Amino acid sequence: MLSVQGLTKSFGNTRAVQDISFDVPAGMTGFVGGNGAGKTTTMRMIMGVLSPDAGQVLWNGSPTNREIRRGFGYMPEERGLYPRQKVLEQIVYFGKLFGRDGAAAKRDGIELLERFNLADRQDDMLDSLSLGNQQRVQIAVAVIGRPDFLVLDEPFSGLDPDAVDSMADLLREYNARGVPILFSSHQLELVERLCDNLTVLSRGRVVASGSRESLQRSGRIRHRLRMNT
Ligand code: ATP
Repeated sequence: MLSVQGLTKSFGNTRAVQDISFDVPAGMTGFVGGNGAGKTTTMRMIMGVLSPDAGQVLWNGSPTNREIRRGFGYMPEERGLYPRQKVLEQIVYFGKLFGRDGAAAKRDGIELLERFNLADRQDDMLDSLSLGNQQRVQIAVAVIGRPDFLVLDEPFSGLDPDAVDSMADLLREYNARGVPILFSSHQLELVERLCDNLTVLSRGRVVASGSRESLQRSGRIRHRLRMNT
């Protein structure tokens, strides 16, 4: 299990996140909040892309380090694939970076593309795909290393309803294999539909965190979001 403890980060005079603590148990955890709430900054600290000013991230009780984070799959907000590389080549390249054997990464890459109805695009350049399809490739890249944990920054943004469903099915499948998932979103309704747990952020602070049932029962999610928008 991942545990975020007291993360704090400022950029100059801007306090991006302040003493953030929450757990990511098994299943799907939604990370909700409006623009500038601090979701991306928190995820970057979880992934080691940014160093916190204070606080720590634990994985199964141990402070995370480079080795532990190698087991985390990540879909960054800025995406970060190579637009002029072929789709499957790119997935295999990242698979190898994560220590997979090339043939196995290729097999899994083709299977992922088939799921997304993109098998016939495997030799096309990434930038010839629609943005929604590029996002599917980005998910394939995040999971190709067989991660122990998945951190996804706005994985559903810009997807049509069918793509949302196939993305959600894929994520549930990883959950079922024992991979906990933390994903950020602006779309509270989607998060409430998909997630077992939620953490709500507003202006750099956690304003609600826990199981969906307990938060819905107490009416905390909507109330807190309303208060802060
Ligand atoms: P969004 O959904 O709009 O991406 P977010 O919840 O992911 O928002 P962050 O991107 O983490 O929020 O931003 C939190 C705050 O930190 C914002 O005020 C933002 O302007 C500021 N911030 C984030 N990154 C930087 C940076 N590299 N330099 C300066 N300020 C930053």
